[in-house]
Amino acid sequence: MPPTYPLRATCTMNRRTFLAGATSFAAAALMANRSWGTAVNRPPLSGYPFTLGLASGDPLPDGFVLWTRLAPKPLQPEGGMPPEPVHVDWQVASDERMTRVVQRGTAIARAEWAHSVHVEVQGLEPDRWYWYQFKVGTEVSGIGRTRTAPPFDALPERLRFAFVSCQKYQDGYFTAFDHLARQDNDVIVHLGDYIYEGKAHKFDVPGREVPAHKCATLEDYRLRYSLYKTDPALQAAHAVAPWILTWDDHEVSNDYAGDHDEHPDRFPQEAFLRRRAAAYQAYYEHQPLRTANLPHGPDMLLYRRLEYGQLASFHVLDTRQYRTVQPQGGGRKPPSPALMDPKGTLMGDRQRAWLFDGLAKSRAKWNAITQQVVMARIDEQPGPDVLLGMDKWAGYEFERRRLLRYFHDAKVRNPVVLSGDIHCNWANDLIADFDDLDSRSVATELVGTSITSDGDGGEKTAKSDAVLAENPFVKFFNNERGFVRCEVTPDHWRADFQTVPYVSRRGAPLLTRATFQVESGRPELLRA
Ligand code: FE
Ligand code: CA
Repeated sequence: MPPTYPLRATCTMNRRTFLAGATSFAAAALMANRSWGTAVNRPPLSGYPFTLGLASGDPLPDGFVLWTRLAPKPLQPEGGMPPEPVHVDWQVASDERMTRVVQRGTAIARAEWAHSVHVEVQGLEPDRWYWYQFKVGTEVSGIGRTRTAPPFDALPERLRFAFVSCQKYQDGYFTAFDHLARQDNDVIVHLGDYIYEGKAHKFDVPGREVPAHKCATLEDYRLRYSLYKTDPALQAAHAVAPWILTWDDHEVSNDYAGDHDEHPDRFPQEAFLRRRAAAYQAYYEHQPLRTANLPHGPDMLLYRRLEYGQLASFHVLDTRQYRTVQPQGGGRKPPSPALMDPKGTLMGDRQRAWLFDGLAKSRAKWNAITQQVVMARIDEQPGPDVLLGMDKWAGYEFERRRLLRYFHDAKVRNPVVLSGDIHCNWANDLIADFDDLDSRSVATELVGTSITSDGDGGEKTAKSDAVLAENPFVKFFNNERGFVRCEVTPDHWRADFQTVPYVSRRGAPLLTRATFQVESGRPELLRA
């Protein structure tokens, strides 16, 4: 379906293009200077400050968070900003030309937070589109579109959203985001690996080079976000809908677990927690998150719940910050009694109690467990040997069984697990007992592929047919890049696996490789 909203004119964050593409609006906005209020603290800037675009997120029935960060020179330390605080005006309008302004205010961008702003707008109407814009001095940002959630007691007819993950910059072009920016989704969900902390490789795609060292300091992480955020396709996808984000490992360090780095010899606990604090701060500075999520040193509360009336609840998990170390040294390992260690956890006790409580109390028709790593116990090794991913739920078998049993025992309505991390598409029935392949399915799992990570793919891998044959609860596999688009109604959940056949060149088309449906009350993926 075409967008209802002139994307190109309003979402391109280059000022010259913006002014050229929306002259009448820009002129009106500049003439309407008086309507923008009278904030004063505006030191001279070294250039257009909105080079990183804008974003909105975490919608409630009466508002959302608006985000931007001032960075006239985005790839330089401090973003080319002076150390002083800067007043940033914002406006929310009920029309795309920003003529009917319904709220406005001024936020303060401070150097301590990389001159980012996080505006928590309240008091708006539920379940409708809004448009927003920032201004510093005479510099105006592009216009973003966002949407409030439906009222808590409403049962909306449908929710349309897409979920994405894993956007390694050096692995390809964000063509999937170009396509996503042209779709009409009420919300976009990100399951982590928004950045990759690693260094450049010789096989990086031309024009997609990253620095030659790994991120370890606050400045490193800030510059990495700046690089990613300068991508026009990513900016366009942020500008069309609110996002709900959670992180995985690469926002900090590959396969980290709690306070444990993958290479504890290089980052012993204390050094790793300093690194984690820097990474979490940079994450907060670059995402549309609420004050409730502000980092405190190496800690940042990111698990939370977003509700779309009584239609769907997103139980957003953080399976990195509180997890215990991967058993058996991580990687892919055969099954072992270590996987049933009751102390092994991905969620931690508090988050698990919060999740169970929220699932028991949920009034939603559909409960989306919005998280990072694959939950189905997939044997990744063709032939009689069994290899399981220790970084995934399979490495935390005790807790995985506990959660699946809870879905059943607490009569959780329509649990659908959303996963990322492994850079390929899977559709899995979550059966009650993976040692008994005939056991009934208690939930379903949609695993979305990467935006770019691992580069050009293909529909299959060398061993995917054999893996499918050994794991009959897997209904679909695909190894291309892309995202999963969902349409949720009270009776059905429909998922389209949408892919781009290549990312090493620009301009790939968007293909729908498979469509699955789940009927309410029947936890089973049906090919549509
Ligand atoms: Fe990834
Ligand atoms: Ca096997």
